[in-house]
Amino acid sequence: MPLSVTEAIVLHAFDYLESSRIIRLLTRNAGVQSVLARGARKSRGRYGSALDLFAEGTAQIYTKTGRELQNLSSFEVTRSRDELAHDIGRFTAASAVAELALRFAGEEENTLLYDTVSDVLDRIARSTPPQTIEQGLAGCWRIVSVLGFTPELSSCSLCHTPLRESDDAIFAHASGGIVCTACSRVARGGRRLPASARGLIREWLEDGVSAPLSEPESRSHQRLLREFLAAHLTDDRPLRAFAVWEHERWSAA
Ligand SMILES: [Zn+2]
Repeated sequence: MPLSVTEAIVLHAFDYLESSRIIRLLTRNAGVQSVLARGARKSRGRYGSALDLFAEGTAQIYTKTGRELQNLSSFEVTRSRDELAHDIGRFTAASAVAELALRFAGEEENTLLYDTVSDVLDRIARSTPPQTIEQGLAGCWRIVSVLGFTPELSSCSLCHTPLRESDDAIFAHASGGIVCTACSRVARGGRRLPASARGLIREWLEDGVSAPLSEPESRSHQRLLREFLAAHLTDDRPLRAFAVWEHERWSAA
């Protein structure tokens, strides 16, 4: 079996049999990979805390083409991101980012996606409790743009009529962005998107983060993002981490 060495981020982990764990990694060289870490469960075994969620490091993987589960040979951690585990707001935001990457990234090499996910997790790790939701939203929209399905926010996504920035618009998830009044009658679904909220999403897509959102604003933005992602999935499995992030309100105090 060939051995590949790649930078990787732990996005999901669960126990397997008596002593092992199955880890889902976002790798720099081969997208999302599921690996078996033998002996990782027993008293943390030979991996120590290296395979904790959101840790990043160098993975050595024995790969066999056509197999779903590869064998992890070693994982040398360079960034543990403990901060994400110590605050529930950071943890739920980072979990949504991980779910987004796991559900949309394939097995192809995508270094920009890898670097963006790594940077987004770092920013959430550094954010104060009141900032975590906005950092998570901004990060998810940046990842959406790297994945190549940036929403249309300037013109009608169906007839391409430019829409005024100062106007509220209808955001139709399945159409891929905002729609004009005429098209909103034929577009399926859709939510009213105030001009200010549209401006914020545009700012996030361009890597900006402004003042913290009010609670109703963050809820609306989380719901819009989740619905937009769901409309782009090819299966019906719910976005569980997004639902937890959205519905659980954690006191920052
Ligand atoms: Zn239109």
